[in-house]
Amino acid sequence: MKTTQSTPPPKLTWQREPADWNARPCLGTPIELWFGPEDGRRESPKEAAAREEEAKDLCAWCPVVEFCLETELALGPFDQHGIRAGLTAEERQKLIRRRTCRSGRAARTEAVA
Ligand code: SF4
Repeated sequence: MKTTQSTPPPKLTWQREPADWNARPCLGTPIELWFGPEDGRRESPKEAAAREEEAKDLCAWCPVVEFCLETELALGPFDQHGIRAGLTAEERQKLIRRRTCRSGRAARTEAVA
């Protein structure tokens, strides 16, 4: 087979997992801690708040929290579930909306400048 010298492949836009990905505190923890009961049982607001606080406390120690957050936000507002990156799904949806508003404002400012 003939090989040809060509331009290098394009850079990947998807960031690879950081080196300390395996040091994330959520690794090996019960999935219910992050997403609530798996058996369909409804949590009381007090139970949910306690569970979410416990999960957020783990995220506070996470060495890859920025990567986790950007990965989650890249999924878009309709695919947010559970606690990720120290935020609830609703908190991440608000962050996505704020970023969208900010970038729209910046684009409009740029357009009229
Ligand atoms: S920030 Fe993300 S990766 Fe880190 S502990 Fe929280 S959910 Fe896991």
